[in-house]
Amino acid sequence: MDDRIAISQTRNGDQLTLALTGNLNENAEFPQLDVNGVREVVLDLSGIKMLNSVGLRTWLLWIKTFAQKTGLVFVNCPRHVVDQMNILDGFLPTHARVDSFFVPYFCESCDATESILARRGQDFMEGTADTREGVTLPDERPCPHCQKPMEMDVLRDRYFSFLKYRK
Ligand SMILES: [Zn+2]
Repeated sequence: MDDRIAISQTRNGDQLTLALTGNLNENAEFPQLDVNGVREVVLDLSGIKMLNSVGLRTWLLWIKTFAQKTGLVFVNCPRHVVDQMNILDGFLPTHARVDSFFVPYFCESCDATESILARRGQDFMEGTADTREGVTLPDERPCPHCQKPMEMDVLRDRYFSFLKYRK
């Protein structure tokens, strides 16, 4: 199976959406992006399966080629992508906006896991997002499988810290 990263591009007016699927690793290749006339690049990262340091380095070089020329919006970021936003300087360029990302929940009763999509303006806002008041997702939610409470499977102040100083 070829898990090399694939990127589908959709142009809608002055907005360019890139949906990435596959593995961000040593086989990752990125297209030269022409952002002439593009107001905003939307990166949909829900399809990123795994990432490693070589792939991340390729990512950093690629995003630098257009990051300063256009607006940047990250959407549907899975947990392993959010982890990189929190630890890897430059992964999320400073002016980029995160519109949605997944928050994992775990059920101790039946071992079920769920990823809940947190949406900007609805479930969180930058600047306050690492506080309890800023992220309105609850610490517990009913498990869809056994109805017992399932718990947020990340530490709030760590997982949401990438939003802390952004506005
Ligand atoms: Zn359960």
